[in-house]
Amino acid sequence: MAQLISDLSVERVRGNLARIAGELTAAAARGPGRPAVEVLAAVKYLSSAELPKLAEAGVRVVGENRAQELEAKVAEHGPLFEWDFIGQLQSRRVRLIVPHVRLIHSVASDSALRELERHSALVRPGLRILIEVNLAGEQGKAGVAPGELDAFIARSPVPVAGLMTMPPLVDDPERNRRWFAALRELADERGLEQLSMGTSQDYVVAAEEGATIVRIGTKLYA
Ligand SMILES: *Cc1c(COP(=O)(O)O)cnc(C)c1O
Repeated sequence: MAQLISDLSVERVRGNLARIAGELTAAAARGPGRPAVEVLAAVKYLSSAELPKLAEAGVRVVGENRAQELEAKVAEHGPLFEWDFIGQLQSRRVRLIVPHVRLIHSVASDSALRELERHSALVRPGLRILIEVNLAGEQGKAGVAPGELDAFIARSPVPVAGLMTMPPLVDDPERNRRWFAALRELADERGLEQLSMGTSQDYVVAAEEGATIVRIGTKLYA
């Protein structure tokens, strides 16, 4: 874990957000006609004390990677944002997350589905999940294989809103275009509305390929 950022500037984030929003609007217009692209701020880099600055800068949706961090941050700043979970979902932590979040972006295991079922009484009304897909077949990386997607969706005890992917780390974002296009195709074929794809390295390409949510950290705070 890199050192937490503790000197965030509201003006800098506001400026970055405006620039990114402009880039996303232009990119979406070049793409397959998805609606506006939502910016989710990845907050694993930030201590809880920094979060009010994000709200002041205009951020409305945040995503956290660790269940206990999510709990702590929601306890301090819950009403400021919509909260999503974007990290690897450990089944024994599912119950900590489900009372608070709008979307879990990263459901990829049957044990997570079982925990969602088991704790259904705790689930925030309206909670939906995205299924993480491992498109590139990368070893050791979370994600359901495309061929197993339909059966996995059929086993989900909560509504599936869409798909998410974490493509390989690349220098040239163009190299991830095919993965984003493939995720869009999988979603379109199944009538799934949400596509969570694109990070600081490749959000423009992701928006061109139909992302509905981009998850951005580094470029928002830099
Ligand atoms: C940290 C993180 C991001 C944001 O990554 P940046 O490269 O900092 O924009 C997006 N998605 C997930 C799942 C993350 O953990």
